[in-house]
Parts: sequence; C-alpha cells; structure tokens
Amino acid sequence: MTFGHDHTQRACETLTALRADLEHLTDLRGVGRVRRWGGWGPSLEQIAAAGARHAAERVDTLEQLANGIVPIGASPAPADLVVLDTLRMVEIDLADLLDAVCDRIAPRTRRSTTNPRRIGQLVSLLTRVGAERDLLDHVLSEARRMHRAVKHALGDTEEVRQLADRCPHCNAKSLRALMDRGVVVCGNGFCRCSDDTCGCHHPSRPRRHTWSATEFLETA
Ligand SMILES: [Zn+2]
Ligand SMILES: [Zn+2]
Repeated sequence: MTFGHDHTQRACETLTALRADLEHLTDLRGVGRVRRWGGWGPSLEQIAAAGARHAAERVDTLEQLANGIVPIGASPAPADLVVLDTLRMVEIDLADLLDAVCDRIAPRTRRSTTNPRRIGQLVSLLTRVGAERDLLDHVLSEARRMHRAVKHALGDTEEVRQLADRCPHCNAKSLRALMDRGVVVCGNGFCRCSDDTCGCHHPSRPRRHTWSATEFLETA
C-alpha cells in the first residue's frame, strides 16, 4: 500500500500548498500586492531598512536595464482580472471536488462553504480517500491543476517587463525582467546556457534560464 500512502502524502502537501497560495491570491484581490508580516523576527524598522536597501539596489540595476524597456501585460487591470477569474474558478472547482469526495465516502457530512475550510475538510478526509485509488488520483490531479492555476495567477500579478537586449545564450529577443524578484529570465523554453548544472539543463523539467539583475548586467 505504499503507492496509496505516497499519493495520500502528495495530495496532502499539494492541498496545503494550495491553501497557502490561495490565501496570498485572496490578499491580492483588488488591492495589488500585499505582504503580511506575522510572528517573531526583526523589528518593523529593521525590515523596512533592509527592504529599502534591497529595493534601492534593485531599482538601480533594473533602471540600468531599462533602455528600450516596454511593459507587457503589466497594467493592474488585466492582472486583477486574472486574480478574480482564478479565485472564481477555484471556488467552483473546490466545491465540486469536495462534493465528489463526500458523495463517495462521507455522504452525510456537512460540506464546508469557504475555500480554506473546504481544503481543510478534504485534507481530513484524505486517509479515507486513500483507500479508493481512483478517487485519490482524482483529488491529486484536481489539487495540482488548481495549484498550478493559482501559482500562475500569482506570477501574473508581478510586474514583468520585456527587455530590448538579446539573450546572450540563445540570441532571441526573449528577455524579461521580473521587477518584484529583481531577476531577468529568458522566455525561450529551449534556451540553454553553457553550465550543465544550471536549472535550464534539467533533463525532464528544464527551467527558464534566470539571472539576478546584477549578474545579468555583468554578463550582457
Ligand atoms: Zn535565451
Ligand atoms: Zn542556464
């Protein structure tokens, strides 16, 4: 039964990640990016100072990159639409998934009506779901699909700018600066750098080649 156990574990992790990212996405509804600070750690003043320092460095380098920069899809309205659409879609799909699970294994259970509670209820039913392999597969694939959509919507709210330069590796005009993260990414999925150990060389899931803005200025 290790198969079922592994899948149950994976479904639990995916649902937990979905709950966390969904919360971030809900924060973004109509208000732009919100960062929450909770728990112990440096004082607010220290964070503000570090943030300002980091932002100043990033703005410097990104401004140097800004020759010929044109924003793509970066206006707040479309990003907000993606957020709202995704939230609406996940709301419906989570309710459907919970219905499907309850219908099969817990018909008399009262179904939760908010997204975080629906996810909590799904997690608490997972041990029993694990006994029904097809149901478990369905939960896992649905959770993954929703999580992908939520992550995509989160990514879309970040300010992305197209750079005028050509990629030093593949020569395509495919470079984007992700302003929030202070990185430059080559959007060409087939782009490979000369370093075999880089994520862009990953045999089954190559990642887009990424530079920090500073590193990029040194390379370019
Ligand atoms: Zn490239
Ligand atoms: Zn690379």
